[in-house]
Amino acid sequence: MSNQDDTRQNPLERLLGPTAPEVGCDECFDRLDEFVELELADFDADAAVPGLRAHLEGCPACREEHDSLLALVAGG
Ligand SMILES: [Zn+2]
Repeated sequence: MSNQDDTRQNPLERLLGPTAPEVGCDECFDRLDEFVELELADFDADAAVPGLRAHLEGCPACREEHDSLLALVAGG
């Protein structure tokens, strides 16, 4: 009988999952122009800037920034 336990799984690793893109406020701010322009162009902005939409949904400050930028670009 062998006593291997190599197959145990790390619960933390499972929680984090595979390369989940995580966008912080800095990166969000950096790419907001691009994101808004793609949105207005009817492009797949979510695919072009993965994780940004999720950040906007969880970050009121960036969402506000996004909304005003969207209004600005759409109106200008
Ligand atoms: Zn943010």
